[in-house]
Amino acid sequence: MQNLKQWLLGNRDKSNSDPPTPPAENPDTATRLKHTSLGGFQRLSQALANTGKALWGGLTEADAHDPQQPFKLTDARLDEIEENLIRSDVGVETAAALVEDLRRQRNAINSQEELRLWLKQSFVSLLQPTAGQHLQPLPDGRNGQMAIYMMVGVNGAGKTTVIGKLAHRLVQAGQRVLIGAGDTFRAAADDQLAVWAERAGASLVRREAGADPGAVVFETLHQAKAQATDVVILDTAGRLQNKYNLMEELRKVGRVLEKEKPETAQVEILLVVDATTGQNALQQAAVFKEALPVTGVALTKLDGSAKGGIVLAIAKQHQLPVRLVGVGETIDDLQDFDAQAFVEALFPEA
Ligand code: GDP
Ligand code: MG
Repeated sequence: MQNLKQWLLGNRDKSNSDPPTPPAENPDTATRLKHTSLGGFQRLSQALANTGKALWGGLTEADAHDPQQPFKLTDARLDEIEENLIRSDVGVETAAALVEDLRRQRNAINSQEELRLWLKQSFVSLLQPTAGQHLQPLPDGRNGQMAIYMMVGVNGAGKTTVIGKLAHRLVQAGQRVLIGAGDTFRAAADDQLAVWAERAGASLVRREAGADPGAVVFETLHQAKAQATDVVILDTAGRLQNKYNLMEELRKVGRVLEKEKPETAQVEILLVVDATTGQNALQQAAVFKEALPVTGVALTKLDGSAKGGIVLAIAKQHQLPVRLVGVGETIDDLQDFDAQAFVEALFPEA
């Protein structure tokens, strides 16, 4: 990723800059990495059921009361839609803008079904930066270029879990995966990562608790180069309590990565965000973007969350593509984010 160096050398305060250019195309991986099986869609639908209810539930009930009444987008109904959008964490501004649009077009929307289609279309277009047309598939090292993932995010967001799931997926696809245990702050974090690595069939580089995370990244990349590893996945610490130290640590780890990675490596720095944390996630994104050139988002715990609308807020406010979604705690519960599938699952046909 040529923008990494440039970004680390200057530009550090440009937290609203465009995301770096995605790595070069590797068309084969698109289909290989994509989890679009029927089972996968069902899993996504289940995970989004609560968000769907928050968005849509009350509206359908309102109609059921009086099926003979012609459908009308009354002010009361528009208010209800706005409340629902906010409740699902789409964000106050986005909700207001959507409802404003809807108000202007209210005469053209004459049924529940038309409203559903309108919302679906609006969601997809809001998700455009993440809709996939301009995005290359996530790298997997198959094109001979090492793929390097660095996961960042606050404690408890789901970094270790995403690493385990991603490693599993890549190992299943025949790739050699090396994980670097860069969260050296707590011994327990390392142990947990070791369990995931073993489960996934990936190798692990770890050091004693309290070791320098930069040294772990250094050693991981050296081993990866020596062993011609296909994919490197780096874990990092996420204790936000000491923000200054954490940011310094992340910048340092970023510099080691930039210096030690193979020239042609494809780097993804994914911000791991817990979908149940709501609007707070947006502030987290800003902080981490300040320290590192984040390329995308892995949204975890979508299952059970009624706040999946945060996907829209992240896409709009941070122009960061959501790349992966966590839909449960088991090793297979990781999916590539697909805007169209997401919206279909959110607004299922009645
Ligand atoms: P880290 O501190 O960022 O490394 O977070 P962890 O990976 O340790 O995850 C924190 C907790 O969230 C663990 O109990 C995980 O099992 C749980 N978790 C992570 N991803 C998901 C998910 O997609 N769905 C659910 N339900 N739980 C998750
Ligand atoms: Mg962890």
